[in-house]
Amino acid sequence: MKGNNPPSPVDKVGLPIFTYHPDPLATGSVRPGTERCACCGQVRGFIYAGPIYAASSDGTTLCPWCIADGTAAAKLDGTFSDDHPLARAGIPEAVIEEVTQRTPGYQSWQQDEWQTCCGDACEFHGDPMRAGLALADPTAVAQFLSATGWSPEQWQEFVSNYEPGGSPALYHFVCRGCKTSKYGWDSD
Ligand SMILES: [Zn+2]
Ligand SMILES: [Zn+2]
Repeated sequence: MKGNNPPSPVDKVGLPIFTYHPDPLATGSVRPGTERCACCGQVRGFIYAGPIYAASSDGTTLCPWCIADGTAAAKLDGTFSDDHPLARAGIPEAVIEEVTQRTPGYQSWQQDEWQTCCGDACEFHGDPMRAGLALADPTAVAQFLSATGWSPEQWQEFVSNYEPGGSPALYHFVCRGCKTSKYGWDSD
């Protein structure tokens, strides 16, 4: 990890820009909040709402800026996502560090599984809305079916019963290279 990163650029609401998680406010991994960040000690107006994988992180409140510059992960000696799926996919170490240590993670029922494509980690776009699913990219659906062993009928049934945030849950990723959608899923 680099110790003295330059100040992070900011997005339209003033949050740091996360390459692999472009809109953490929309995905629910960051929420407005007036709690004080346990890392920088400041009240920044936004609070991280995703998972923290560290030896002791219970009740730890973090701001997105301390995630973006790596200070939160360093201080907690933890990560915000599981690095195993990325390591298994042969993603470069620098990308794995950025995704797991400097990017907001996401809440999942089981251990999260960050999707990969084109030798890179994908962008996380959250829990897709049902309307988006019905129009889902056929290539992504085919990949999803082959990964899960589901039949097209099971997929149809899943889509018609789908509730964002429910179980089973679906997680929408987009490849930064070829722009295809990829879906991860799990259930309670
Ligand atoms: Zn902070
Ligand atoms: Zn790709």
